[in-house]
Amino acid sequence: MTVTRFAPSPTGYLHIGGLRTALYSYLWARKNSGKFLLRIEDTDLKRNSAEAAQKIEEAFAWCGLKHDGEPIYQSQRFDLYKQYVQQLLDEGKAYYCYATKEELDEMRAAQQAKKERPRYDGRYRDFCGEPPSGVDPVVRIKAPTEGTISFVDGIKGELSFNVQDMLDDFIIARSDGTPTYNFVVAIDDALMGLTDVIRGDDHLSNTPKQIVVYEALGFEIPKFYHVPMILNPQGKKLSKRDGATDVMEYKQMGYFPEALLNFLIRLGWSHGDQELFSMDEMLEYFDPKDINSSASAYNAEKLLWINAQYMKSLPADRILNDLQALGLDIASHPKRELIVDALRERAKTLVEMKEMAEKIIEKPTAYDEKAVKKFLDESAFEILANYLQELKAQDALEKSEDFETFTKAFLEKHDLKLKHLAQPLRIAMVGSAVSPSIYDTMAIIGKEAFVERIEALLAYFQS
Ligand code: GLU
Repeated sequence: MTVTRFAPSPTGYLHIGGLRTALYSYLWARKNSGKFLLRIEDTDLKRNSAEAAQKIEEAFAWCGLKHDGEPIYQSQRFDLYKQYVQQLLDEGKAYYCYATKEELDEMRAAQQAKKERPRYDGRYRDFCGEPPSGVDPVVRIKAPTEGTISFVDGIKGELSFNVQDMLDDFIIARSDGTPTYNFVVAIDDALMGLTDVIRGDDHLSNTPKQIVVYEALGFEIPKFYHVPMILNPQGKKLSKRDGATDVMEYKQMGYFPEALLNFLIRLGWSHGDQELFSMDEMLEYFDPKDINSSASAYNAEKLLWINAQYMKSLPADRILNDLQALGLDIASHPKRELIVDALRERAKTLVEMKEMAEKIIEKPTAYDEKAVKKFLDESAFEILANYLQELKAQDALEKSEDFETFTKAFLEKHDLKLKHLAQPLRIAMVGSAVSPSIYDTMAIIGKEAFVERIEALLAYFQS
């Protein structure tokens, strides 16, 4: 069975790069009817992991990603890790190292003077004398001293690391007994039964160390997939300056989670030139072996475009719920579906749609000066006044089509073109020359309020 995981360090929020690896892991597990697990890497106890875990759960819930079982907290497993430290000590695969800080500093200085890579020289590896007093020892693992550590990465292919270039007998337990990062990651991945570890390639240099731990403990090594980073358009690591990095900020900015996931899956993975993927399609087509082996660039325009596509196609009910959640009082508006349909081709985000809808639902409190100057001269005033008079005499104007038929008949009767009327009407309805289809806008506002808005503009014009 395929078992994958997401293993964030508690940083306080879920980073979009993290969401992308979580999505890849999630899809791969679900596609294979496997398990997707969550592990909070909170061995650095200074940070509040419960809060961070909650933030991750919140972001997962928003995106619809579900992990299996309860999250695992590394901070609660120290006893377990200690047992494995002891096991390696008992088996002679790890040892106490009594080197003091001064000794280690000297060792490093001597190596640097010889232009050698700084590394622990193994001086306590076979030590069996009397331990120096007053030193709390660390525990080091016996790493191979020569040869290579190789594995086949699911994305990058065969990788080989020369032991002498990058390994030494690294510490697995500090002098206060706490276990170190690579040691616990390997133990957890093994005990959680992971078959596939999908993670950022910023962890690539950890993998040989983790393999040393797997081998020492006799655990089966999972398949690794190291996903290239998301970079900014300048090719640097994505930072807050390039756009939001916190997943929940995208919610606040009015993005759909489906659009964000769609954007993220395409950042580094493709299926022909298809751009839009439903969750079912993601599940059908995704395979981590197709993840690009080079880094991908964050592209805010693309995300906006994808969101706009979802805006056009998601059911009105869903969009209404989201708008209501954003604070727009729309759930019981009699023309709520028409509002969504009139705006879904124009608004790219929910926030934009909310702002556009507010302009239609609430009567204008001011008129755009420029638009007034440009479109409201004496003759426009007269046309509007006539239009108002005939509009008032009409009843039964309900739907967009009713308003359209009425308006077109008016124009024909007076030998006018729509351009004589459209902008003045927009200004009356929403206060500016920008609105969706004028007939939809009229139908949303409703005849009575439409009349009032024209009267208000005429009154303003006269004042
Ligand atoms: N905790 C690591 C991080 O947040 C991930 C470790 C891993 O995936 O192996 O970057």
